[in-house]
Amino acid sequence: MANRLNWIQEELNNLQEAGLYNRIRTISSPQGAWLVVDGKRSLNFCSNNYLGFANHPRLVKAAKEAIDKYGIGPAAVRTIAGTMDIHLELEKRMAAFKKVESAITFQSGFCANLATIPALVGKEDVIFSDELNHASIIDGARLSGAKIIRFAHADPASLEQVIKEAVGTYRRALIVTDGVFSMDGDVAPLDKLYAIAEKNDILLMVDDAHGEGVLGTGGRGIVDHFHLHGKVDIEVGTMSKAFGVMGGVVAGKPAIVDWLRQRGRPFLFSSAVTPPDAAACIAAINVLEESTELVDRLWENARYFKSEMKTLGFDTGVSTTPITPIMLGEAPLAQQFSRTLFENGVFAMALGFPTVPKGKARIRVMISAAHSRDDLDKGLAVFKKVGKELGVIK
Ligand SMILES: *Cc1c(COP(=O)(O)O)cnc(C)c1O
Repeated sequence: MANRLNWIQEELNNLQEAGLYNRIRTISSPQGAWLVVDGKRSLNFCSNNYLGFANHPRLVKAAKEAIDKYGIGPAAVRTIAGTMDIHLELEKRMAAFKKVESAITFQSGFCANLATIPALVGKEDVIFSDELNHASIIDGARLSGAKIIRFAHADPASLEQVIKEAVGTYRRALIVTDGVFSMDGDVAPLDKLYAIAEKNDILLMVDDAHGEGVLGTGGRGIVDHFHLHGKVDIEVGTMSKAFGVMGGVVAGKPAIVDWLRQRGRPFLFSSAVTPPDAAACIAAINVLEESTELVDRLWENARYFKSEMKTLGFDTGVSTTPITPIMLGEAPLAQQFSRTLFENGVFAMALGFPTVPKGKARIRVMISAAHSRDDLDKGLAVFKKVGKELGVIK
């Protein structure tokens, strides 16, 4: 092998030795409560398919019809070759669903953050960022060139303190936070962050990737959950989690959305999601607007699973959402736990450093409305068996 590649091979070897090399399992079935993983039928506790939309008949049908009408690809950037009406329809429907005036869609939630943050702040500005924010927020913030000042996780007093210290050192500022934090399943204190943003006249942005379709009335998200309609300046969302498809969205005031159409680089220099993606997202909104049944079932499932796990003696951390961490401590135990679960037909992810702090390794169970009570009971029985085998519970 050429010398110039040696360092990469060394780094890969280091990852393997440290047990940090990512081995990706292969799924050969549609998403749902059960999957075929590496050829083995497994109970799915891994995916972000909160409402079962990833293989929902109405979304599948809408996507097929869109292919018949529009074909597959948008074939160019929207600002250069014109936008398909189905993308505009999705944006209109998304704005109405989230009760805001305006919305713009992107290729993914990751792209939405890369587009939005650099469009709003630059070198003379500062970003006040929760220390546990998602990688795409961190990357968007770095890309902007603004000074990044972190505040303690979900801690309004810490936010106030860092703002006070920075007063007078910047032109503009942006406060940015995840809505639901995906490793712990806790929710940002958005009402308190809003009060601080308002008091200091600072833009407020929330990335509601894990709240979309989960929090609020009928899954309308964190802003609805806190009744902050019209108050949070920028609400970022994704259609790749509860919506079960692909795509990102920014919802808010028309001026911000209009500005992102002019200055959001992933919008200006990259093609949009495909027409069947857009059609499936519209179908998801239809289902959510017709009934809260799926969102209600998601929460009922989450409550049941969490309380049964606690009764078994597991520590489920600080989660207040369907994200259910099972706290185990050291990373090797979490990995062994995940492997043993898999041998027993349960697919659940182990998370260790650097994804979560050292000594806070865990299994993360993602509950879905797609799970039946019987599925959850099967999963609980396996957790009980493996927990006893590995000495985690008595
Ligand atoms: C998953 C996630 C994203 C990325 O969303 P994609 O649509 O998959 O790119 C962005 N932000 C947060 C907080 C997320 O949890």
